[in-house]
Amino acid sequence: MSTQHKNQKWNTLVRRGIISLQPLLDQRIYPAPCHLCRQDTRDKAGLCSQCRQQWQSKLEQAHCAGCGMVVDQAGLCHRCHQKGRLFDQVITACAWDEQTRHIVHRLKYHHDFSVLRLIVESMITRLESGSPPAFEQLIAMPQHPQRRIERGFDQARLIAQQLGKRLALPVSASIIKRVTHTPSLTGLNRQQRQAILTNAFALTISAKQQIARHVALVDDVLTTGASARAAARQLYQAGAERVSVLVFARVQD
Ligand SMILES: [Zn+2]
Ligand SMILES: [Zn+2]
Repeated sequence: MSTQHKNQKWNTLVRRGIISLQPLLDQRIYPAPCHLCRQDTRDKAGLCSQCRQQWQSKLEQAHCAGCGMVVDQAGLCHRCHQKGRLFDQVITACAWDEQTRHIVHRLKYHHDFSVLRLIVESMITRLESGSPPAFEQLIAMPQHPQRRIERGFDQARLIAQQLGKRLALPVSASIIKRVTHTPSLTGLNRQQRQAILTNAFALTISAKQQIARHVALVDDVLTTGASARAAARQLYQAGAERVSVLVFARVQD
């Protein structure tokens, strides 16, 4: 058989799904340092077996469905019971701690895209551990264009795109936009944050035509929730009946 013929035959088998290249692509051919302890690993998400075990316990920790804070058992935290939930639904893969902070900082400030897989897989694991998500559309938490230029990429959009592929859900980047370049909100109180964020987001002209009934707002980290609440308000205005918040890590305040 000629090489050309062999290649054609191979391509046909792959195209028809008789042979899948995915397992090969999922495997690391050469070991690489574990994202957390730097020990060599072939794990596709980049964790050695010891760190993988620890990581798994993070993904099994219960979080409040109304705000994402760590709780002893699934349901609402005391604050959401007393004062009403912060969001319709929050799904967070894990809590913000030294390790999750390290992973997010690798992506955001060191442009290490190899951690993206761990972030997305953790979010998928968390989704799979609950009842199947009912949202029909993913919306990345919008970043101001100036921030995107400074950073060179938009991590929320990257995560949303990867999740969209894995969950077979559409990702919309043209429903809501950030119109003010907000300074860092660290150290500001609730009223000050609110004042800055009230006009931080705006809907696009076609938002009402594009929005699904149940959407998930995707971000890497949920800090106080003030920005996500401001964005969610806009999404309800556009016609969403339900807005879930889907993040990798939730800061515990
Ligand atoms: Zn490790
Ligand atoms: Zn809560």
